[in-house]
Amino acid sequence: MAAGGALWGAAGRCAMLPLLRRAAAAASWRGKRRCSLGACCSYRLRNALHPLWQSPLTIPGGSRQSPINIQWRDSVYDPVLKPLQISYDPTTCLHIWNNGYSFLVEFDDSADKSIIVGGPLENQYRLKQFHFHWGAINEWGSEHTVDSKFYPAELHLVHWNAVVYPTFEEAVMEGDGLAVIGVFLKLGAHHEGLQTLVDALPAIKHKDTVIEFDVFDPSCLLPPCPDYWTYAGSLTTPPLTESVTWIIKKQPIEVDENQLEAFRMLLFTSDGEEEKRMVDNFRPLQPLMNRTVRSSFQSRHLLDIEAQYSDHAQQIRP
Ligand SMILES: [Zn+2]
Repeated sequence: MAAGGALWGAAGRCAMLPLLRRAAAAASWRGKRRCSLGACCSYRLRNALHPLWQSPLTIPGGSRQSPINIQWRDSVYDPVLKPLQISYDPTTCLHIWNNGYSFLVEFDDSADKSIIVGGPLENQYRLKQFHFHWGAINEWGSEHTVDSKFYPAELHLVHWNAVVYPTFEEAVMEGDGLAVIGVFLKLGAHHEGLQTLVDALPAIKHKDTVIEFDVFDPSCLLPPCPDYWTYAGSLTTPPLTESVTWIIKKQPIEVDENQLEAFRMLLFTSDGEEEKRMVDNFRPLQPLMNRTVRSSFQSRHLLDIEAQYSDHAQQIRP
């Protein structure tokens, strides 16, 4: 890994910093314990970490932390899982800003205009913002992995349960408060929808810069295949609250090398500071513990393996 940004990314994370800092301040954890991430607790490394991870961290009990490795063969098909219904109003898009950890596209969430419903969700959830995580090079960058495979980047669309909770900040603290759609980005064809975002990035190169970004429909960033995995998890940035129903799309979207490079031209740092490139802003994998990852689809992959095994078993039968 390269110096600077790479070290910052060693404990890297999600991107709702101001809101989450407020939520962290408001949090009163039962069973407090120190951060279990080795790098967070290393004095030697502390000064090299991104500022997000430099202050002492407390996290919940740690029974449903994110991200995780999704082991395809261990995921359980659940026929009860319905297709996720997504309805985004492009006019609710407000602005795009560099928050010093990722770039966020934020939405007006004062009414039920951009919403998701169905899938594993019992309520309707409102879109709050979306952001990405990515690597310094193409070999890593996503937060979740599939069969231990990293993708070069991962999109997170963050929604909150406005049916049950009056504010986003309150939803962040509750087990059914948030629903995040995760979409993997893989290297391939140019992505026209993403390019609209990429074109805006030079204007928000430095931390704390923001520009208007109205009228954008993020459903253009979703793959056509409806299949997903779902599990109960957490935020991947402090305060790491265990409030997220994760919905990870099986099919990645394709983006080209220039588009990923445009992400890597952003900076963690403000204008006038020593430049640190915004790369490796992902959290390390967390233990699955006793959780089950459910899938909305029957695995063709596994059916093929089982068929091969069955053929093989018949061949070697005496
Ligand atoms: Zn995230």
